Amino acid sequence: MKPEKIEVLDKTKLKLVWKDGESRVYSLMYLRELCPCAICEEERGKWSSTFIPLFMTSQITLREIRPVGSYAINLIWEDGHNTGIYEYSKLHFQPVSD
Ligand SMILES: [Zn+2]
Repeated sequence: MKPEKIEVLDKTKLKLVWKDGESRVYSLMYLRELCPCAICEEERGKWSSTFIPLFMTSQITLREIRPVGSYAINLIWEDGHNTGIYEYSKLHFQPVSD
């Protein structure tokens, strides 16, 4: 399933509108925190359960959104991090958070 529309709201949120008319809003901080790339996954593995990550503005500001085929988006962040591929199937079922 592919979203009809993808837009950034208030520079801090990403809105995906699905074909069935349903829309989901994700906090960019939340998306960055859950970045699915191997580097971030390894980094998260080192966090203790009480660790709260702090992000610089450049880490949670989007520079570019690139579609990857019809199954995912690649989020390019202002700090240059560009390895996170977010699959629509996972985004669609992930709970809304802000
Ligand atoms: Zn990452």
